[in-house]
Amino acid sequence: MKKRKFTRRTYKYQIREHPTNKRLGNMFDDLSDVHNHFLKLENRYYRIYGKYAGRYRLQPHLTKLLERTHKHWAWIPRDTLDAVIIRLHIAWERFFDFPNVGRPKLKRKERYRSAKFQSGYLLEEDRVRLSFKAWDDPSESLKFNKRWFSFHQHRDWKGQVCYIQILRDTVGTYWLYVVTDDTSKEVLPATGESVGADFGMDTYLTLSTGEKIQSPEFLKQSLKALRTLYKSVSRKVKGSHNWWRAVRQLARLYRHISNQRRDWHFKLATDHCRRFDLIATETLNLEGMKRLWGRKVSDLAFGEFVEILAYKCFKHNREFHQVEQWTPTTKPCSDCGFHNENLSLSDRQWTCPECGSDHDRDINAAINILRAACGPVVEQM
Ligand SMILES: [Zn+2]
Repeated sequence: MKKRKFTRRTYKYQIREHPTNKRLGNMFDDLSDVHNHFLKLENRYYRIYGKYAGRYRLQPHLTKLLERTHKHWAWIPRDTLDAVIIRLHIAWERFFDFPNVGRPKLKRKERYRSAKFQSGYLLEEDRVRLSFKAWDDPSESLKFNKRWFSFHQHRDWKGQVCYIQILRDTVGTYWLYVVTDDTSKEVLPATGESVGADFGMDTYLTLSTGEKIQSPEFLKQSLKALRTLYKSVSRKVKGSHNWWRAVRQLARLYRHISNQRRDWHFKLATDHCRRFDLIATETLNLEGMKRLWGRKVSDLAFGEFVEILAYKCFKHNREFHQVEQWTPTTKPCSDCGFHNENLSLSDRQWTCPECGSDHDRDINAAINILRAACGPVVEQM
Protein backbone atom coordinates (compact mmCIF):
# COMPACT_ATOMS: atom_id res chain seq x y z
CA MET A 1 0.00 0.00 0.00
CA LYS A 2 1.26 3.42 -0.93
CA LYS A 3 1.74 6.01 1.76
CA ARG A 4 1.35 9.52 0.56
CA LYS A 5 3.14 12.47 2.08
CA PHE A 6 1.75 15.94 1.96
CA THR A 7 4.43 18.49 2.72
CA ARG A 8 3.28 21.37 0.55
CA ARG A 9 0.08 23.23 0.12
CA THR A 10 -0.80 25.35 -2.88
CA TYR A 11 -3.07 28.35 -2.87
CA LYS A 12 -4.42 29.59 -6.16
CA TYR A 13 -5.26 33.22 -6.84
CA GLN A 14 -6.43 34.91 -9.98
CA ILE A 15 -4.19 37.69 -11.28
CA ARG A 16 -6.27 40.68 -12.30
CA GLU A 17 -6.30 41.56 -15.96
CA HIS A 18 -3.95 44.37 -16.77
CA PRO A 19 -1.83 45.42 -19.79
CA THR A 20 1.31 44.57 -17.78
CA ASN A 21 0.28 40.91 -17.93
CA LYS A 22 1.64 40.97 -21.47
CA ARG A 23 5.07 40.72 -19.87
CA LEU A 24 4.09 37.42 -18.32
CA GLY A 25 2.98 36.23 -21.75
CA ASN A 26 6.33 37.28 -23.23
CA MET A 27 8.07 35.49 -20.42
CA PHE A 28 6.23 32.23 -21.22
CA ASP A 29 7.17 32.59 -24.89
CA ASP A 30 10.84 32.94 -23.97
CA LEU A 31 10.65 30.10 -21.47
CA SER A 32 9.25 27.81 -24.14
CA ASP A 33 12.29 28.78 -26.25
CA VAL A 34 14.57 27.87 -23.35
CA HIS A 35 12.75 24.57 -22.91
CA ASN A 36 13.00 23.67 -26.60
CA HIS A 37 16.62 24.79 -26.88
CA PHE A 38 17.79 22.64 -24.00
CA LEU A 39 15.61 19.73 -24.98
CA LYS A 40 17.20 19.67 -28.45
CA LEU A 41 20.59 19.80 -26.76
CA GLU A 42 19.66 16.88 -24.53
CA ASN A 43 18.35 14.93 -27.51
CA ARG A 44 21.65 15.38 -29.32
CA TYR A 45 23.52 14.31 -26.20
CA TYR A 46 21.28 11.27 -25.87
CA ARG A 47 21.89 10.28 -29.50
CA ILE A 48 25.64 10.39 -28.98
CA TYR A 49 26.12 9.09 -25.43
CA GLY A 50 22.84 7.28 -24.68
CA LYS A 51 22.19 9.27 -21.49
CA TYR A 52 21.08 12.74 -20.49
CA ALA A 53 23.47 15.58 -19.75
CA GLY A 54 21.56 16.70 -16.65
CA ARG A 55 21.17 20.04 -14.98
CA TYR A 56 24.74 20.24 -13.67
CA ARG A 57 26.09 20.39 -17.21
CA LEU A 58 23.27 22.49 -18.64
CA GLN A 59 23.16 25.22 -16.02
CA PRO A 60 26.79 26.36 -16.58
CA HIS A 61 26.04 26.17 -20.29
CA LEU A 62 23.09 28.49 -19.78
CA THR A 63 25.39 31.00 -18.10
CA LYS A 64 27.53 31.06 -21.24
CA LEU A 65 24.51 31.42 -23.51
CA LEU A 66 23.24 34.37 -21.49
CA GLU A 67 26.58 36.12 -21.86
CA ARG A 68 27.16 35.39 -25.54
CA THR A 69 24.43 34.27 -27.91
CA HIS A 70 21.15 34.42 -26.02
CA LYS A 71 21.25 37.78 -24.31
CA HIS A 72 17.53 38.23 -24.97
CA TRP A 73 16.78 35.65 -22.26
CA ALA A 74 18.65 37.56 -19.59
CA TRP A 75 15.66 39.74 -18.66
CA ILE A 76 14.02 36.75 -16.94
CA PRO A 77 15.16 36.01 -13.37
CA ARG A 78 17.90 33.39 -13.37
CA ASP A 79 16.16 30.95 -11.03
CA THR A 80 13.09 30.93 -13.28
CA LEU A 81 15.32 29.92 -16.20
CA ASP A 82 17.04 27.34 -14.01
CA ALA A 83 13.65 25.90 -13.07
CA VAL A 84 13.04 25.07 -16.74
CA ILE A 85 16.29 23.09 -16.85
CA ILE A 86 15.51 21.38 -13.57
CA ARG A 87 12.11 20.33 -14.91
CA LEU A 88 13.80 18.85 -17.97
CA HIS A 89 16.28 17.09 -15.71
CA ILE A 90 13.46 15.53 -13.70
CA ALA A 91 11.60 14.58 -16.89
CA TRP A 92 14.67 12.73 -18.21
CA GLU A 93 15.22 11.06 -14.88
CA ARG A 94 11.66 9.79 -14.94
CA PHE A 95 12.07 8.67 -18.54
CA PHE A 96 15.05 6.50 -17.56
CA ASP A 97 13.59 5.24 -14.29
CA PHE A 98 10.03 4.27 -15.25
CA PRO A 99 9.16 1.99 -18.15
CA ASN A 100 5.92 3.67 -19.16
CA VAL A 101 7.07 7.29 -19.00
CA GLY A 102 7.80 8.87 -22.38
CA ARG A 103 10.56 11.24 -23.36
CA PRO A 104 10.10 14.94 -22.70
CA LYS A 105 8.62 16.67 -25.72
CA LEU A 106 9.09 19.91 -27.58
CA LYS A 107 6.48 22.49 -26.68
CA ARG A 108 4.67 25.02 -28.77
CA LYS A 109 4.63 28.56 -27.44
CA GLU A 110 1.03 28.49 -26.30
CA ARG A 111 1.60 25.16 -24.57
CA TYR A 112 4.22 26.48 -22.18
CA ARG A 113 2.31 28.04 -19.38
CA SER A 114 3.98 27.99 -16.01
CA ALA A 115 6.98 29.64 -14.40
CA LYS A 116 8.51 29.20 -10.98
CA PHE A 117 9.92 32.02 -8.88
CA GLN A 118 12.04 30.97 -5.98
CA SER A 119 13.54 34.32 -5.10
CA GLY A 120 13.30 37.86 -6.35
CA TYR A 121 9.60 38.20 -5.71
CA LEU A 122 7.77 40.13 -3.07
CA LEU A 123 4.34 39.14 -1.82
CA GLU A 124 2.13 41.78 -0.31
CA GLU A 125 -1.55 41.92 0.37
CA ASP A 126 -3.36 41.66 -2.95
CA ARG A 127 -0.24 42.13 -5.05
CA VAL A 128 3.00 40.49 -6.00
CA ARG A 129 6.20 42.07 -7.31
CA LEU A 130 8.39 40.33 -9.83
CA SER A 131 11.89 41.51 -10.67
CA PHE A 132 12.65 41.31 -14.34
CA LYS A 133 15.80 42.80 -15.78
CA ALA A 134 16.16 45.43 -18.47
CA TRP A 135 19.17 46.66 -20.42
CA ASP A 136 20.31 50.06 -19.20
CA ASP A 137 22.16 52.00 -21.91
CA PRO A 138 24.09 54.60 -19.87
CA SER A 139 25.63 52.04 -17.52
CA GLU A 140 25.69 49.30 -20.18
CA SER A 141 24.42 46.66 -17.79
CA LEU A 142 21.22 44.91 -16.78
CA LYS A 143 19.14 46.81 -14.25
CA PHE A 144 16.25 45.49 -12.23
CA ASN A 145 12.88 46.34 -13.61
CA LYS A 146 10.33 45.69 -10.91
CA ARG A 147 6.73 45.12 -11.81
CA TRP A 148 3.66 44.78 -9.65
CA PHE A 149 0.82 42.42 -10.48
CA SER A 150 -2.34 42.57 -8.46
CA PHE A 151 -4.32 39.48 -7.68
CA HIS A 152 -7.60 38.66 -5.98
CA GLN A 153 -6.64 37.42 -2.53
CA HIS A 154 -9.90 35.71 -1.62
CA ARG A 155 -8.27 33.89 1.31
CA ASP A 156 -5.06 34.01 3.33
CA TRP A 157 -2.37 31.39 3.05
CA LYS A 158 -0.99 29.54 6.06
CA GLY A 159 2.64 28.64 6.71
CA GLN A 160 5.90 29.78 5.19
CA VAL A 161 5.91 30.52 1.47
CA CYS A 162 8.34 28.13 -0.30
CA TYR A 163 8.01 29.51 -3.80
CA ILE A 164 5.45 30.99 -6.14
CA GLN A 165 4.35 30.02 -9.60
CA ILE A 166 2.69 31.98 -12.35
CA LEU A 167 0.36 30.05 -14.61
CA ARG A 168 -1.57 30.82 -17.73
CA ASP A 169 -4.57 28.65 -18.49
CA THR A 170 -6.06 27.85 -21.88
CA VAL A 171 -8.50 30.74 -21.64
CA GLY A 172 -5.62 33.20 -21.21
CA THR A 173 -6.19 33.98 -17.54
CA TYR A 174 -3.11 34.32 -15.36
CA TRP A 175 -2.98 32.65 -11.96
CA LEU A 176 -0.69 32.97 -9.01
CA TYR A 177 0.13 29.81 -7.09
CA VAL A 178 1.51 30.38 -3.61
CA VAL A 179 3.17 27.18 -2.38
CA THR A 180 3.64 26.97 1.38
CA ASP A 181 4.95 24.35 3.79
CA ASP A 182 1.64 24.25 5.64
CA THR A 183 0.73 20.78 6.87
CA SER A 184 -1.80 21.74 9.50
CA LYS A 185 -4.76 19.47 9.99
CA GLU A 186 -8.40 19.96 10.77
CA VAL A 187 -9.06 16.82 12.76
CA LEU A 188 -12.63 15.60 12.66
CA PRO A 189 -14.23 13.65 15.53
CA ALA A 190 -13.95 9.86 15.26
CA THR A 191 -17.04 8.04 14.06
CA GLY A 192 -15.93 4.40 14.46
CA GLU A 193 -17.04 3.57 10.94
CA SER A 194 -14.98 2.15 8.08
CA VAL A 195 -15.89 1.91 4.44
CA GLY A 196 -14.70 0.22 1.28
CA ALA A 197 -15.35 1.93 -2.03
CA ASP A 198 -15.49 0.33 -5.45
CA PHE A 199 -15.23 2.45 -8.59
CA GLY A 200 -17.33 1.52 -11.57
CA MET A 201 -18.38 2.68 -14.97
CA ASP A 202 -22.13 2.39 -14.37
CA THR A 203 -22.23 3.54 -10.78
CA TYR A 204 -19.45 5.95 -9.96
CA LEU A 205 -18.86 4.76 -6.44
CA THR A 206 -20.32 1.82 -4.56
CA LEU A 207 -19.79 1.79 -0.82
CA SER A 208 -19.62 -1.31 1.32
CA THR A 209 -22.61 0.10 3.22
CA GLY A 210 -24.69 -0.53 0.11
CA GLU A 211 -24.87 3.06 -1.05
CA LYS A 212 -24.50 3.85 -4.74
CA ILE A 213 -23.29 7.24 -5.86
CA GLN A 214 -23.82 8.36 -9.44
CA SER A 215 -21.54 10.82 -11.19
CA PRO A 216 -23.26 13.92 -12.59
CA GLU A 217 -21.08 13.47 -15.73
CA PHE A 218 -20.54 17.14 -16.30
CA LEU A 219 -18.87 16.65 -19.66
CA LYS A 220 -21.87 14.71 -20.92
CA GLN A 221 -24.18 17.47 -19.69
CA SER A 222 -22.27 20.03 -21.73
CA LEU A 223 -21.78 17.94 -24.86
CA LYS A 224 -24.43 19.83 -26.79
CA ALA A 225 -22.95 23.21 -25.91
CA LEU A 226 -19.48 21.91 -26.76
CA ARG A 227 -20.65 20.72 -30.15
CA THR A 228 -22.14 24.12 -30.91
CA LEU A 229 -18.91 25.85 -29.95
CA TYR A 230 -16.77 23.45 -31.98
CA LYS A 231 -18.98 24.17 -34.97
CA SER A 232 -18.66 27.90 -34.49
CA VAL A 233 -14.86 27.56 -34.31
CA SER A 234 -14.73 25.54 -37.50
CA ARG A 235 -16.85 28.10 -39.37
CA LYS A 236 -14.40 30.94 -38.66
CA VAL A 237 -11.28 31.82 -40.59
CA LYS A 238 -8.38 30.27 -38.70
CA GLY A 239 -6.28 32.88 -36.94
CA SER A 240 -8.86 35.66 -37.27
CA HIS A 241 -10.16 37.67 -34.30
CA ASN A 242 -13.49 35.91 -34.38
CA TRP A 243 -11.76 32.56 -34.51
CA TRP A 244 -9.71 33.40 -31.44
CA ARG A 245 -12.83 34.57 -29.64
CA ALA A 246 -14.58 31.28 -30.41
CA VAL A 247 -11.53 29.27 -29.34
CA ARG A 248 -11.44 31.11 -26.05
CA GLN A 249 -15.16 30.52 -25.51
CA LEU A 250 -14.58 26.83 -26.02
CA ALA A 251 -11.66 26.84 -23.59
CA ARG A 252 -13.81 28.66 -21.06
CA LEU A 253 -16.49 25.99 -21.24
CA TYR A 254 -13.88 23.26 -20.72
CA ARG A 255 -12.53 25.14 -17.72
CA HIS A 256 -16.06 25.43 -16.36
CA ILE A 257 -16.63 21.70 -16.72
CA SER A 258 -13.42 20.80 -14.91
CA ASN A 259 -14.23 23.29 -12.15
CA GLN A 260 -17.65 21.71 -11.70
CA ARG A 261 -16.12 18.26 -11.53
CA ARG A 262 -13.44 19.32 -9.05
CA ASP A 263 -16.00 20.99 -6.84
CA TRP A 264 -18.16 17.87 -6.81
CA HIS A 265 -15.12 15.70 -6.02
CA PHE A 266 -14.13 17.88 -3.09
CA LYS A 267 -17.64 17.84 -1.67
CA LEU A 268 -17.89 14.07 -2.05
CA ALA A 269 -14.49 13.57 -0.39
CA THR A 270 -15.40 15.86 2.52
CA ASP A 271 -18.65 14.02 2.99
CA HIS A 272 -16.79 10.68 3.17
CA CYS A 273 -14.27 12.07 5.66
CA ARG A 274 -17.07 13.28 7.93
CA ARG A 275 -18.72 9.87 8.01
CA PHE A 276 -15.87 7.38 8.09
CA ASP A 277 -12.60 6.85 9.98
CA LEU A 278 -11.08 4.55 7.40
CA ILE A 279 -11.63 4.68 3.67
CA ALA A 280 -10.34 1.91 1.40
CA THR A 281 -10.30 1.94 -2.38
CA GLU A 282 -8.70 -0.14 -5.07
CA THR A 283 -5.65 0.85 -7.10
CA LEU A 284 -6.93 1.76 -10.52
CA ASN A 285 -5.46 0.80 -13.83
CA LEU A 286 -6.29 4.12 -15.45
CA GLU A 287 -4.40 3.59 -18.70
CA GLY A 288 -6.18 0.32 -19.36
CA MET A 289 -9.56 1.82 -18.51
CA LYS A 290 -9.00 4.78 -20.81
CA ARG A 291 -8.20 2.45 -23.69
CA LEU A 292 -11.36 0.49 -22.99
CA TRP A 293 -13.85 3.26 -22.31
CA GLY A 294 -12.44 6.49 -23.73
CA ARG A 295 -14.26 9.72 -23.02
CA LYS A 296 -16.36 8.47 -20.16
CA VAL A 297 -13.31 7.64 -18.02
CA SER A 298 -11.99 11.16 -18.54
CA ASP A 299 -15.37 12.52 -17.54
CA LEU A 300 -15.49 10.43 -14.38
CA ALA A 301 -11.87 11.32 -13.52
CA PHE A 302 -11.26 8.57 -10.95
CA GLY A 303 -7.58 9.44 -10.63
CA GLU A 304 -8.29 13.02 -9.70
CA PHE A 305 -10.87 11.96 -7.15
CA VAL A 306 -8.47 9.49 -5.51
CA GLU A 307 -5.86 12.28 -5.21
CA ILE A 308 -8.40 14.60 -3.60
CA LEU A 309 -9.67 11.87 -1.30
CA ALA A 310 -6.11 11.02 -0.18
CA TYR A 311 -5.42 14.68 0.59
CA LYS A 312 -8.71 15.12 2.45
CA CYS A 313 -8.03 12.00 4.51
CA PHE A 314 -4.64 13.43 5.44
CA LYS A 315 -6.15 16.79 6.33
CA HIS A 316 -8.93 15.37 8.49
CA ASN A 317 -6.73 12.67 10.02
CA ARG A 318 -8.56 9.76 8.43
CA GLU A 319 -6.94 6.54 7.33
CA PHE A 320 -6.77 6.04 3.59
CA HIS A 321 -5.91 2.66 2.10
CA GLN A 322 -5.39 1.60 -1.46
CA VAL A 323 -5.65 -2.11 -2.00
CA GLU A 324 -3.03 -3.62 -4.33
CA GLN A 325 -4.02 -3.77 -7.94
CA TRP A 326 -4.15 -7.56 -8.25
CA THR A 327 -6.00 -8.28 -5.00
CA PRO A 328 -9.06 -10.33 -5.95
CA THR A 329 -12.08 -8.24 -5.00
CA THR A 330 -14.79 -9.09 -7.50
CA LYS A 331 -14.87 -12.87 -7.54
CA PRO A 332 -14.70 -13.97 -3.89
CA CYS A 333 -17.96 -14.15 -1.98
CA SER A 334 -17.88 -11.62 0.85
CA ASP A 335 -19.73 -14.01 3.20
CA CYS A 336 -17.84 -17.28 2.85
CA GLY A 337 -14.85 -16.52 0.62
CA PHE A 338 -15.89 -18.84 -2.21
CA HIS A 339 -14.13 -17.92 -5.48
CA ASN A 340 -16.73 -17.57 -8.21
CA GLU A 341 -14.71 -18.17 -11.37
CA ASN A 342 -17.79 -18.18 -13.61
CA LEU A 343 -18.50 -14.52 -12.91
CA SER A 344 -18.44 -12.48 -16.12
CA LEU A 345 -18.38 -8.71 -16.60
CA SER A 346 -22.08 -8.59 -17.41
CA ASP A 347 -23.20 -10.30 -14.19
CA ARG A 348 -24.51 -7.53 -11.95
CA GLN A 349 -26.20 -9.90 -9.48
CA TRP A 350 -25.13 -13.36 -8.47
CA THR A 351 -25.86 -16.03 -5.89
CA CYS A 352 -23.05 -17.80 -4.08
CA PRO A 353 -23.22 -21.55 -4.81
CA GLU A 354 -21.48 -22.32 -1.49
CA CYS A 355 -23.49 -20.39 1.10
CA GLY A 356 -26.41 -19.27 -1.06
CA SER A 357 -26.22 -15.57 -0.26
CA ASP A 358 -27.29 -13.06 -2.91
CA HIS A 359 -24.73 -10.50 -3.98
CA ASP A 360 -24.73 -7.24 -5.84
CA ARG A 361 -21.49 -7.33 -7.79
CA ASP A 362 -20.28 -3.85 -6.77
CA ILE A 363 -21.31 -3.99 -3.12
CA ASN A 364 -19.64 -7.39 -2.81
CA ALA A 365 -16.43 -5.92 -4.28
CA ALA A 366 -16.59 -2.93 -1.94
CA ILE A 367 -16.89 -5.22 1.08
CA ASN A 368 -13.92 -7.28 -0.15
CA ILE A 369 -11.88 -4.10 -0.61
CA LEU A 370 -12.61 -3.04 2.94
CA ARG A 371 -11.70 -6.49 4.22
CA ALA A 372 -8.44 -6.57 2.25
CA ALA A 373 -7.50 -3.15 3.61
CA CYS A 374 -8.32 -4.00 7.20
CA GLY A 375 -5.98 -6.92 7.58
CA PRO A 376 -5.84 -10.56 6.44
CA VAL A 377 -6.23 -10.98 2.71
CA VAL A 378 -9.60 -12.19 1.45
CA GLU A 379 -9.75 -15.93 1.90
CA GLN A 380 -8.78 -17.73 -1.24
CA MET A 381 -10.03 -21.14 -2.29
ZN1 LIG B 1 -20.65 -17.45 -0.19
